[in-house]
Amino acid sequence: MLLSATRIRELDGIAVVASATCYLDRWLLGASTTWPGSTRPRELTPPQPPDHEFDDQEGRMPIYYHGGVPGKRRRQTILPATKVKMNAVYNPDHVEKAIYYPDRVYLTTHLGAAMGYAARYIDRRARRSPGDVYQVEPIGTPEVDPDFAAQDGAFVMCREAVIIEVVERNVQLTLREQTRLAGPTILWPRGKPVYTDDGTLQLSDQMRAAGVRDDYVALLPKWIDLTEINSLGEIVSPRNFTKTATARDLLDIFSHLTWDNPTHQIRGAGHAFECVCGQRYDTTNSAAIHQAGEHLVVLQRHNIAARSRDLIDLLAERRPQRWAWLTHTK
Ligand SMILES: [Zn+2]
Repeated sequence: MLLSATRIRELDGIAVVASATCYLDRWLLGASTTWPGSTRPRELTPPQPPDHEFDDQEGRMPIYYHGGVPGKRRRQTILPATKVKMNAVYNPDHVEKAIYYPDRVYLTTHLGAAMGYAARYIDRRARRSPGDVYQVEPIGTPEVDPDFAAQDGAFVMCREAVIIEVVERNVQLTLREQTRLAGPTILWPRGKPVYTDDGTLQLSDQMRAAGVRDDYVALLPKWIDLTEINSLGEIVSPRNFTKTATARDLLDIFSHLTWDNPTHQIRGAGHAFECVCGQRYDTTNSAAIHQAGEHLVVLQRHNIAARSRDLIDLLAERRPQRWAWLTHTK
């Protein structure tokens, strides 16, 4: 599945993650680690794009940012990987068609994207730790980053860059904070944005072909990262991209939905079931879904664990009295 996903680039003794066209399926299969970022909740103000992103007619230089190696100061130089003798290796198993030049420094006019790269910083020992964001000036004429050719010069590369200002130190962001900040720069192939302005995922052609529909997308968390969901619409395990989410994972990931709304309370009614709202059901399963929340039907289309009894059992564990009717039925 072609999409614009993340990849790792190593620059100036660090690695940053940049967008690349790759196959999501292989990406998910090949990835063995997550980028948890910080779990610390944080209020974020999406950065405003600079007011002159591209060369205007007066020939002004765009404002460029670089997110990556921490601890640099004004007037210091950001060097490409080859100049700091860092092996520019990113995992080729799960990334295809990513074009990377280790003798180039990568810059962007999009501050949010630079923040995301800083948050995904990896040091020489391949450890993830918070990076910094700098405003920089390219040395020499910047060239368009071929991975972002559709983005009109918002992503460029150059031989070296000089730090003009330190914009932010110690950038720690969760994956969803990263997608939110980088928002409009994250594109499906052929340039369609992955997210709407409010962070709702927009279906790729492959997702749509796999039967994923808008009513499901509407239930997803805003700014869900593309490493949290696969091309079939399945939520993947937060611990291992190659496995699907468990019932407990689903209740966690969809915690923004109203589960087990007390407006609905099933009772046995002879051989059937009746809710206090008046709905009647012939089967335990349909009665349980009604009490759990009808959105469960939509989640069940794409998530095995949503179809299992485990999810209902977890709800019953939380509020045993409300679910006591289940234990009296088969
Ligand atoms: Zn009801």
